[in-house]
Amino acid sequence: MAISLQHVTKTYSSANGPAVDGLSLDIPQGHITTLLGPSGCGKTTTLRLIAGFERPEQGSIAIAGRTMADNQRWVPPEKRGIGMVFQDYALFPHLNVERNTGFGLKGPDLKKKVQSTLDLVGLGNYLKAMPHELSGGQQQRVALARALIRDPLVILFDEPFSNLDTDLREQMRQEVVDILQRAHATAVFVTHDQREALAISDQIVVMKDGRIQQQGSPREIYQYPETAFVASFVGQSNLLPGTMGTDGYVMTALGPIPCHHTHGRETGEPVTLSIRPDSFEMDPDGELEGTILRTVYTGEAIDALVTLGQGSTACNIWVHIHPEEQVRTGTVLRFTVLPHFVAVIRGDA
Ligand code: ATP
Repeated sequence: MAISLQHVTKTYSSANGPAVDGLSLDIPQGHITTLLGPSGCGKTTTLRLIAGFERPEQGSIAIAGRTMADNQRWVPPEKRGIGMVFQDYALFPHLNVERNTGFGLKGPDLKKKVQSTLDLVGLGNYLKAMPHELSGGQQQRVALARALIRDPLVILFDEPFSNLDTDLREQMRQEVVDILQRAHATAVFVTHDQREALAISDQIVVMKDGRIQQQGSPREIYQYPETAFVASFVGQSNLLPGTMGTDGYVMTALGPIPCHHTHGRETGEPVTLSIRPDSFEMDPDGELEGTILRTVYTGEAIDALVTLGQGSTACNIWVHIHPEEQVRTGTVLRFTVLPHFVAVIRGDA
């Protein structure tokens, strides 16, 4: 493992409880891992603990098999072999791209190494440019080059794209991922943007209140959320109580719903289902009938709030409808439930 955290706890003030609470996490070599969660969940603290800017009061942190922090050992940030890329890039305004990239380094090969690193990030022709002459995206690539040139064991990114406007952010995300993959680098990103996490990560770690709610590939996190929090924080979800039936069906007030991921629940057990809005397909012969209460047009889809069932079994759900369909408030539709985006959750940790 590139990085291993074991039962790490960090408390800033005892009145507020731990910012990071007994966190154990393995970060594989050559992968992009993203810490994702709402403001205050402990993402930045976790990154700062890995970097050595904070000291855990409990637990241990190892990088490339070497213990960096535990109750006996402490390795300072500059000796950990990590690179960091910050939100504001932190370039020296009075140094050109070449000198920013090679800052603090010496050696006969430095010029060649700076050139090849700037080539890698696509700035091979910008050596003499000053930071103020560069776009936000180019400045970020200089910051990345400055981290990469040191051959770090891991590069840590704290909300690196949040200062860029939407179009550039999406382009930079892809460019940075491509550069990291070409360099076979190990990277840890912090973000509160679930779309960003889904787009760039090999592994996503969803955090809440200083603890891990779930970790897995983007597909696992989106398709098979394990807690109500993950289901609602990463994308939209409809949460529905039910009882485990047979053959992968869950019995609910809306009738039997086919479910792809049952977490090994036994027949008869009470469960909560997470049903993504994409699981409902308009179908004139579908088993569910509902009336549209509200629609939100997003361009990619129509997000429709639909009331299903009658009387005491009535419930409102979010459904994604193809954007070309002509639907509005009051339209009555029939749906089939596809099992792909239906999962039993194990409760809220
Ligand atoms: P954000 O996305 O807002 O940066 P985060 O998930 O990165 O949030 P942290 O910055 O790690 O969360 O903060 C976790 C908790 O620790 C919060 O309650 C925060 O107020 C508290 N905290 C963070 N840094 C300090 C500090 N230096 N002193 C005291 N409390 C702190």
